[in-house]
Amino acid sequence: MSERLGVVIVGAGPVGLVSALSLARAGIPSVVLEAADEFPIDLRASTFHPPTLDMLTELGVGETFVAMGEKAPVWQILDVESGDRAVFDLSLIADKTRHPFRIQCEQYKLTPLLHEACQKTGLVDLRFSSPAREIVQLSDEVVVRYDHRGEAREIRANWLIGSDGAHSVVRKCMGLQLEGDTYPSVTILVTTPFPFDQHIPGVAAANYLWTRTDSGSLFKLPGEWRATFYPREGETDDEFMLAPDAINERLQALAPSLSGYDIREIRAYKIHKRIVPNYRIGRMMLAGDAAHLNAPTGGMGMNGGIHDAMNLTEKLIRVIRGASQDLLDLYTRQRRPISYEEIIQQADANRKRMEDRAPGRRAEILANLKSITADRDKHIAWLMKSSMLEGLSRAAAIE
Ligand SMILES: Cc1cc2nc3c(=O)[nH]c(=O)nc-3n(C[C@H](O)[C@H](O)[C@H](O)COP(=O)(O)OP(=O)(O)OC[C@H]3O[C@@H](n4cnc5c(N)ncnc54)[C@H](O)[C@@H]3O)c2cc1C
Repeated sequence: MSERLGVVIVGAGPVGLVSALSLARAGIPSVVLEAADEFPIDLRASTFHPPTLDMLTELGVGETFVAMGEKAPVWQILDVESGDRAVFDLSLIADKTRHPFRIQCEQYKLTPLLHEACQKTGLVDLRFSSPAREIVQLSDEVVVRYDHRGEAREIRANWLIGSDGAHSVVRKCMGLQLEGDTYPSVTILVTTPFPFDQHIPGVAAANYLWTRTDSGSLFKLPGEWRATFYPREGETDDEFMLAPDAINERLQALAPSLSGYDIREIRAYKIHKRIVPNYRIGRMMLAGDAAHLNAPTGGMGMNGGIHDAMNLTEKLIRVIRGASQDLLDLYTRQRRPISYEEIIQQADANRKRMEDRAPGRRAEILANLKSITADRDKHIAWLMKSSMLEGLSRAAAIE
């Protein structure tokens, strides 16, 4: 069975669905192939930055999504032991965004919302249980071979967006590789309804922190908290992952509890700093995790992928309406340096800062950060960068 289409999108994660919705709102239909049988409910992104909320609002789903999450008007870097902190106040950039706050909400709540909005347009055909297997590019079309519930199918399309995540088949079929490194140790993520706000004085909805023994982060989500921890020096990944006592000990250092913690989920995950050399080859383009991977410290991977999707579809819409295909090369020129310099490198610096656990260094780091928050201009500059607004302005200025 073979069909002829305009646009095929491989992968119905946040990036693929934002791409489909953005195209649909311009009247352009697409087919979205998704390998899974349904949307996964897994622990992935939880931080949504101001410009991403602006984009979701532009797509018609922002206000519903904001209402589903936990608002973080400030975020902070906190030394739990001493109570010392540097607080970053997003109200200072209220003239730069319609959403001067972060939203903490599970990524898996966004995808069904985007899907619903796509369905309302009548222009997006999302096919679950449809893994793309092989993609061949000819001079005037892309041939996608995929399975649908065990049956081999084929689509011929003018354009293909590869938003099929870290293990992207599209990327491989484009002959591209994610270049870079994998961090030597895993990060562990724990969720619990334990009310940290009643136990840690001054805790915010979004915290990057040091305890007496560890470093990591603590985020308030609707109905639960999410803590991440990095391995301690000399700790092997196995010891780190497999010892439930170690998790309990880490949480005790965060906020002592005689009755312990109701732990809902523990997940260990590997992290990478990798990027492809080019986001476009002919009629095939990559976006999101298929194109770049970064440490989650700072919460920028999915946000950056959504920014890719908005940038790419704005250009693809113009090309479909008659503009030169060269416009699509501008997508790589604008987004790749931002992914590398503003996301991968910034996330790496954030992680290194928090992994510096020497007590003397913490005080030094906090003193430096507080000198930034004490100076309005420096504070705003820091917020513009960490909220990803600066990266978007930099991208827009590239020709
Ligand atoms: C623990 C953790 C915390 C994170 N926290 C944050 C955060 O706070 N903020 C942030 O911005 N980012 C965060 N990230 C990163 C974020 O989750 C990813 O960047 C994001 O999921 C990327 O979206 P995507 O749509 O590109 O890829 P994915 O979400 O991976 O979606 C890809 C989709 O493609 C499908 N697929 C794969 N192969 C095929 C195929 N061959 N055919 C068809 N479909 C296919 C998959 O089933 C999947 O549905 C975090 C990640 C982790 C692991």
